[in-house]
Amino acid sequence: MAEEVTVIEGVRELAGLQRRQWWPRERLEALQLDRLRRLLRHAAASVPFYRQLYGEGGVPADSIGSLEDLRGLPVVRREDLQSRPQEELVARGTDLERCIRTRTSGSTGVPLEILSRRRDRSVFNPSFFRAYLAWGLRPWHRMTYFQARPEKLQQRSWYEPLGIFRKQLLSSLDGPDHWLHEIRAWRPHLIHGYALTLKLLAEAAVRRGETIPVPLVASTSGVLDEVGRDLLRNAFGARIIDIYASEEAGSVMAWECSWCEGYHLCIDTVVVEILRDGRPARPGEDGAVIVTNLSNFTMPLIRYDQGDVVRLSAREPVCGRGLPLIESVQGRAGDYVVLRSGRRLTPHPFFLVLDHALGVGRWQVVQETLDRIVVRTTRAPGSREVDVEGIRKGLGKLVGTGVRIEVEVVDRLREDPSRKLRSVVSLVPGASIGPG
Ligand SMILES: [Zn+2]
Repeated sequence: MAEEVTVIEGVRELAGLQRRQWWPRERLEALQLDRLRRLLRHAAASVPFYRQLYGEGGVPADSIGSLEDLRGLPVVRREDLQSRPQEELVARGTDLERCIRTRTSGSTGVPLEILSRRRDRSVFNPSFFRAYLAWGLRPWHRMTYFQARPEKLQQRSWYEPLGIFRKQLLSSLDGPDHWLHEIRAWRPHLIHGYALTLKLLAEAAVRRGETIPVPLVASTSGVLDEVGRDLLRNAFGARIIDIYASEEAGSVMAWECSWCEGYHLCIDTVVVEILRDGRPARPGEDGAVIVTNLSNFTMPLIRYDQGDVVRLSAREPVCGRGLPLIESVQGRAGDYVVLRSGRRLTPHPFFLVLDHALGVGRWQVVQETLDRIVVRTTRAPGSREVDVEGIRKGLGKLVGTGVRIEVEVVDRLREDPSRKLRSVVSLVPGASIGPG
C-alpha cells in the first residue's frame, strides 16, 4: 500500500502555498531558481540517467544563474525514460519496493511509470486546494470527486481525519444517471473531475431537464472549450475552474484565476518552460510545455516534454498574486468511445487499461465502427511480449460484449506530423470532443 501524505505535511504545504502566492514575482523567481539548483545538483550527483545525460564532469547546477541557462540542458522525452531500466532513473539507494508508482501516458500514448516517495508528493493535492480556496471553497464545504481508478475509491486524503472538505468519491465508470442521483443526495459545493466526465454529467442533467445547483466545478485533464464551459454553466449554474496539472509535474502547473484573465502559473512548485521552435514563446504565442518537477527527488523529471501546448499571456495579474499568467491550455486530447446504446465513454479509462498493460510501448486506440475497436501498440523497449489478452479483457469490461476488440502489435505507429498523436480516436460520428 502506498504511503499517504500526513495531516501535518498536507497542512504545512497548503499554508506555504497560500502564503507564497502573494509574494512579489522576484521573490518567487528566486525561490524557484533555488529549488531548481538543488534538484539539479541532486540529479547530477545521484541519478545515473542524468549523470550520463549531462556528462561526467557536468554538475550544471552552479552554472544555472537564470531559467535561460536551463535551456542549455537537453529536453527529456517520455521515450527516453521508458527505454531505461528504472534503477537508472531513480536516485542511488532508492528502495524500488517502497516507491509510490503512478502511470500516465500523457498526450502521446507512451506509458511511463513515475516513482516517488511520500515527501515527493506532499504538494500535489494541496496545490489543487490553493485553486479551490481562491474560488471560495471553505473547510466546511462538501466536495464530489470523480475517480477513474476503481482501486482508489476507498483511498482517504490527508485532510479527511480533520473532518474538513468532506468528500464523496464517484467512479468515472458508472453512468451519468447514477452520478446525478448521488450528487443530488450529497449536495456538494464543488465537483472535481475530468473535463469529459463533467460534460457527460452536464449533458445528462440538461437532457433530464434538471439543474443541479453547484457553486463550483473544477475541470482537469482535457480541453475545456467554450461549448463545454457553457454546458457546465447551464447545467450547474456553476463557476468553472480549469486546472492544468500532471503526474509528471508533481503539482498543479496552472489554474484559472477568478479575477485575472488567464491561468496562474505555479512557479513556486514547478518550472514550466513554454517553447516555440526551441526559443521561449512570446506573449500571445502558443508553445510546447517543458516541465521540471521541483518536488520529486526520487525520480527527477528535468526539462521533460509534457506533450501539451499552452499560450503565454501578455497580461499581468490584477488580483495581487505574484504568480505569472498564461492565456490558455490545450491539454491531452482524445475522443469519446460511443456504444450502440448511445452511451459515450470518456477516453480516460482506456488510458488506464493501456497504461497498466504489460509490455505496451506507444499505443493508440481507434474505434473504427460501433462494433469494432482496434488497438495498435508497439512493444515497450526491452520487453518481449505485450499482454494482448489483458488489454482485450480490460477494454471488454469497459465496452461490454458485442464490440470486437482487436489488438495489433506493430513496429511503429503512423503519425500525422501536423498534429499530436491522439491516443483514443473514434471514427464514429458524434465522438469527437474538440480541436485536433
Ligand atoms: Zn489572479
